[in-house]
Amino acid sequence: MSSSNIESSERSEDSLNIVRQQGEQQESVEESATSSLESLATAIDDTSPRMQPNVSACLTGATDSEAFENNLRDILRCKICLALRRTTLYLCQAGHLICASCLAHLLTDAQLCEETAKCPICQKDISIPVRNIAAELAISELPSNCRFCNEKFPHCSLDHHERHECQDCPIGCKYSRIGCEWIGVRKEASDHERNCEFLSKTPQEIAATLETIEVDDDSKHDEIEHIFQSLMYSLNSERILCVDLQLMCYCNNHQLFYTTTDFHAFNELWVIRARLNNQDANDPENVISFSYQLVLKTEPRSTLKVQFVALKGARSDIKISTQLYKHEFTPTSLESDYCALPLTDCNDCIQLLAKRGTKFRIMLSLLD
Ligand SMILES: [Zn+2]
Ligand SMILES: [Zn+2]
Ligand SMILES: [Zn+2]
Ligand SMILES: [Zn+2]
Repeated sequence: MSSSNIESSERSEDSLNIVRQQGEQQESVEESATSSLESLATAIDDTSPRMQPNVSACLTGATDSEAFENNLRDILRCKICLALRRTTLYLCQAGHLICASCLAHLLTDAQLCEETAKCPICQKDISIPVRNIAAELAISELPSNCRFCNEKFPHCSLDHHERHECQDCPIGCKYSRIGCEWIGVRKEASDHERNCEFLSKTPQEIAATLETIEVDDDSKHDEIEHIFQSLMYSLNSERILCVDLQLMCYCNNHQLFYTTTDFHAFNELWVIRARLNNQDANDPENVISFSYQLVLKTEPRSTLKVQFVALKGARSDIKISTQLYKHEFTPTSLESDYCALPLTDCNDCIQLLAKRGTKFRIMLSLLD
């Protein structure tokens, strides 16, 4: 084995160990009674689903349904980090379940070594990510405890329960918009609202209160309105163009970076660079993200105020949300900041990571 191969396999081991540690420490999805060494050890080398009663569950006197649930949790763990993750999940050709975070590490290591990504358990090719949506849905059906009343609900309906139904969830009075600042649990809200002091206030008193209230309900609407207005402003710009580009992956100093070829716009030469962001160990659901920047390669004669937005490329299946950025290019400021490449979900990040080249489109407009 050459020295570079040794290095790269050590690096793969390192990043997998980090993933394992993250999985064990932070994870995310419950655990406790059943995460004994025994069940972890069996999950490591057992590739086929086991349906025997869970031994630790029997020892602790758990009921049949708890034992079944615990078996299911073991089956649905990522076979690499052994964590049960609510994220996109993938399969190797032999059927091993791999979470998005582990797959991202394996794909990154493979790109760095210019090798084909392989499943660490069976060594089969995993360079074309295959989703396992059935396993994702099965995990979303596993029960989790409500933060407020501690009752169990399928994870996929927990959010609805906590927001709309849970009697122990803290909520505000329905007259908060006219100034009532009462906050209590949902089961006490109707009693309060029947006697809320704001019902007996005069219009003048309510008007006086309204003057002091800051309304932030409209912030989401304002944000969408802002994107729409910026986009329309861009489209009305005298000089606007769309360029279809390919983001290619390269490796330098054991780091991945992405770049397009140079392209012409507004009589200047430009390039787009992108990079994989450091993963946030505390965020198990959105494990991978990218940033990109617009770079001017020629020295501009005057200031160029450019608005730009990355869009899904023609015939590309990687979806990008609309997010506009602006930068003033001057002889001393030839690079925009690195800004978020808003891929729509985790699977789009995995697809980008798995490919050497990804098509996308950039729209540039020259502002006055
Ligand atoms: Zn994993
Ligand atoms: Zn495998
Ligand atoms: Zn509840
Ligand atoms: Zn009230």
